[in-house]
Amino acid sequence: MHRPPIVHHPAYSVPLPEGHRFPMGKFAALARLLEERGLLDRRNGREPAPADPEILALAHDRAWVDAVLEARVGPAAERRLGLPVSPAVAARARAASGGTLLAARLALDHGIALNTAGGSHHARRSGGAGFCVFNDLAVASLALLAEGRVRRITILDLDVHQGDGTAEILRDEPRVTTVSFHCRCNWPARKEQSSLDLALDPGTGDRAYLELLDGLLPGLLRRTAPDLVLYDAGVDPHRDDRLGRLALSDAGLAERDRLVLERCRAAGVPVACVIGGGYDPDLAALARRHAILFGVAAELSRQPRSARAGRSCPGS
Ligand SMILES: [Zn+2]
Repeated sequence: MHRPPIVHHPAYSVPLPEGHRFPMGKFAALARLLEERGLLDRRNGREPAPADPEILALAHDRAWVDAVLEARVGPAAERRLGLPVSPAVAARARAASGGTLLAARLALDHGIALNTAGGSHHARRSGGAGFCVFNDLAVASLALLAEGRVRRITILDLDVHQGDGTAEILRDEPRVTTVSFHCRCNWPARKEQSSLDLALDPGTGDRAYLELLDGLLPGLLRRTAPDLVLYDAGVDPHRDDRLGRLALSDAGLAERDRLVLERCRAAGVPVACVIGGGYDPDLAALARRHAILFGVAAELSRQPRSARAGRSCPGS
């Protein structure tokens, strides 16, 4: 059975102070669940190298990168971030960015690859915000562009919150198209301008959401002609999410993920997936919600791939 590569690092879940509201345990819980379901093992599992400071500095001010890596960001920056930056949190952020970069490289080789972390889309060039230390989507995009491995990237961000940090970092980068589906009445209050923003009303459910997405994807892929899609599959649009305010069901999330992966494959575009946001005090329920994407990707990988999806180097 062919399964897509899955990137995971044990450092994705690190200790936080007792009672902290960020569900840090979900990354380890997700990996365990994927192992139990036979979706992740030694054969398709990959452990990323932590992203180098030079790679992180493609997307961030060097002062922020150094402050994080030396665990000395200060109280004001920690408040914006919503996390205390310990050496473990710093190592986790490096691993997550390295993980998205590895997933992107694997997607170029295999058509689909997934990271069990990533989607830190609120991190800005000058610093972190909203639980996001380094913007792995921007880091991976700029690293692959700098290498010449790809010419154009589309970031499809379906997390319920706007990808404001991604939009800010990549504002003047014409080779990256940023697309954000989000709830218009959700954090951050001040939105940035992505290449394309779809601001949805609170309470939007499966049908309206999926019609909009399905109507958009083929034209978007044709217009932007990316060599790679980075897909932020946040599960916080789910109706039971603590921070979401949209109303997708489990079946709606599965259909959303299937649409994205199938449309990319039909267009011959490799897609690297990151899990994005999801907030539920019930970690087992949250892990099951994030696992939907991995199930859909595995199912799709059992079907034959299109000719273009496995190419390794556009233009070569
Ligand atoms: Zn979110």
